[in-house]
Amino acid sequence: MVLHLLLPFAFENELIYALYGSICYTGTNQLSESRHIMHIYTSPDPVLREVCEPVEIGDKTIKRTAKQMLKEMYKTNGIGLAAPQVGLLKRLVVIDTTYVEEDEDGRPLKKNPLVLINPVIVEHSEEKIDSNEGCLSLPGISVDVKRWAWVKVKCLDENYNEIEYMGDGLFGRCMQHELDHLDGITLFERADPMTRIKALEAYKLAVENGARPGEVQ
Ligand SMILES: [Zn+2]
Repeated sequence: MVLHLLLPFAFENELIYALYGSICYTGTNQLSESRHIMHIYTSPDPVLREVCEPVEIGDKTIKRTAKQMLKEMYKTNGIGLAAPQVGLLKRLVVIDTTYVEEDEDGRPLKKNPLVLINPVIVEHSEEKIDSNEGCLSLPGISVDVKRWAWVKVKCLDENYNEIEYMGDGLFGRCMQHELDHLDGITLFERADPMTRIKALEAYKLAVENGARPGEVQ
């Protein structure tokens, strides 16, 4: 395992595939923008390690795709979902962190679905904060990762209007997590090396125990 720490990134990936490939590799990497039934791809599917292409401005399929992604996200109790997680290599993310939060009287907040097209972090805090995160593509585990305390993100909404989001707390963290997916970065790559080893071991166990997207231990 010490050797594992020293391995170059590309080779390390091969090792991850060797370790987990037979267990949970879906074997399908056919990307279709017109798929009707969405399916969340789980690690180590190679689709999660790809860098996504920008969405072409005016692409009329995106609104429907975003709607389907939101449906899938709510169904699996997620707060964010990036297009590569459903097998589509486009810079598209959906987020709703509000519906899992409560107002001061303990009532759940209303849904506030956001669609972020071609999002870019244009400003961020100096400070980074350590916190625990789950991911629909890494069912059964949560991982400690350091993220900027706040970020400012520029993007387009589902109608291709320019929009900016300032986010700290759960929203800021979620934007950073989902934007990482667009560059092929999962929690495994974001975590420090020791945390990554523990997370990989925990993930192997979770997959053996049949963890499904949306389940976090
Ligand atoms: Zn994720």
